[in-house]
Amino acid sequence: MAEGEVIYLAWNDMVGITRVRGVPAGEISRRMAYGLGWAVAGQALTPFEDIAPNPWGPMLEARQTPVPETEVRVDIWPDAAPLHFFMCDSKVSDGSNWECCTRGYMKKALAAFEAETGLQFMASFEHEFLLTGGGAGWCVPFSLEQVRINAQFVRDVTRALLAAKVGLETVEPEYGVLQYEISCAPAVGEAAGDRAIITREVIREAARRLGLRASFTPKPTPNAVGNGAHVHFSFRAKDGSNAAYDPKGPGEASLVAQHFIAGLVRHMPALCALMAPSPVSYLRLGPHHWSCGYNAFGIQNREASVRICPSPERDPARRSSAFNMEIRIPDGTASPYMVIGALVNAGLAGIREKLPLPRTLDKDPSELTDAERQKLNIVALPSSLAEALEVLDRDETVKSWMSPTFYQAYTAVKRTEIGMFADQSLEHMCERYHNAY
Ligand code: GLU
Ligand code: MG
Repeated sequence: MAEGEVIYLAWNDMVGITRVRGVPAGEISRRMAYGLGWAVAGQALTPFEDIAPNPWGPMLEARQTPVPETEVRVDIWPDAAPLHFFMCDSKVSDGSNWECCTRGYMKKALAAFEAETGLQFMASFEHEFLLTGGGAGWCVPFSLEQVRINAQFVRDVTRALLAAKVGLETVEPEYGVLQYEISCAPAVGEAAGDRAIITREVIREAARRLGLRASFTPKPTPNAVGNGAHVHFSFRAKDGSNAAYDPKGPGEASLVAQHFIAGLVRHMPALCALMAPSPVSYLRLGPHHWSCGYNAFGIQNREASVRICPSPERDPARRSSAFNMEIRIPDGTASPYMVIGALVNAGLAGIREKLPLPRTLDKDPSELTDAERQKLNIVALPSSLAEALEVLDRDETVKSWMSPTFYQAYTAVKRTEIGMFADQSLEHMCERYHNAY
């Protein structure tokens, strides 16, 4: 390792920001067991300079403790030190995760899912982002021009993500001007959350090294195309097969997948407060943005809040392994750890109650009349963060997945963010989130 190399201990907090403390590379082995201390009041930081009212004083600390399997070292830039970091668990003195550790929130949900179903949760994120700063002008959506105009970035980000071993699958131009999307292969269990965070940080670094900026904000300007962070997921059985798939099930979904989808639909309005967790998120969520505005289930339907993505494969084994489900509500201001934790908890609640699969909707729900929607039990998703927090407050099940302290701190941070932009223009709000994410 080069002299002067720093290894960062990283954690992704309640507002989905990756924060770090660094140690000289030679010191890492003595930091593996107990990490570094971090004043937990920092968990009440907004994405900006402010800190929300919180229950923690100046004393309480968590140990940011590296998770060995998450090590990332990307050394492709001749003029910059390698990007070298570990994701951490925030631990307390008995060695368990601190009650407000977002990675701990995900781990607890995954452990419950595995214990109760005997299956492992698998997921991958699609990361949409806007690239700014290179002087590239307007170009045609989805065009070859749009990727070749930033060819050096595309090459570097590809090299960097391959070096980070996150299972890079696609790098593509998106619908917005200079908007791109990068997807990685699904990962099992905790690695799915780690991989999402690592991918975003590596994309940011590849842009940064070229004097560009990659922003994952849900809405760069009030009228821009939104950036989503859709999550595809399935379940892995002990024999390695896809337990979400049953060729005879409705939409080829197995019984466990049907219950899981039903649990998601039941809790989706409250999940918005965790998955689309910023005031700016609600400029993106809504009909006709392919982000979704109504709570509905569909097969292939990109305006549904949960959809089945059927596989194009004809070979039965490949058809099974490619089958997955998708939620489109999450955006880049949500911590991937909280997204996975909430997603798994909601699905598991559906499995516990053996909830039946909701009726399949094969239309854009915004094109139905109010009466039709009512008949099909399709409700509009919250239209603001304040509304989402109210819905969350009424959903005791979703609240129960967080400790009372976690809930109190999380909602205090979110209310602080709402307050910050209550009297501000949408342009100003979008600009601040664009700079923070
Ligand atoms: N950009 C859209 C969103 O905000 C998604 C478009 C797509 O389907 O890829 O969710
Ligand atoms: Mg996309």
